Amino acid sequence: MTTANADIDPTACPRCRSGTIQLLGKSPDAGIWTVFGCSTCFYAWRSTEPEENVNPEKYPLAFRLRPEDLANLRVVPTVQPRRSSS
Ligand SMILES: [Zn+2]
Repeated sequence: MTTANADIDPTACPRCRSGTIQLLGKSPDAGIWTVFGCSTCFYAWRSTEPEENVNPEKYPLAFRLRPEDLANLRVVPTVQPRRSSS
């Protein structure tokens, strides 16, 4: 299996284009895949995913985020506490 992207460190998040990228994991067999994560928008991707998932220039426009807009996104509703069983 050829994995050309496994050893290339991304410089920008595909989704929000920020540079806050962390290395989250590597394949047990060296050089097969690498998982990266963005600490700004929490997008995570594996180096072996299709170009539209790993390349900021090819990431679908409709799903891109702007870091300055993240604080204004709708808040996910909280989960209600469990009802007592009695
Ligand atoms: Zn991001």
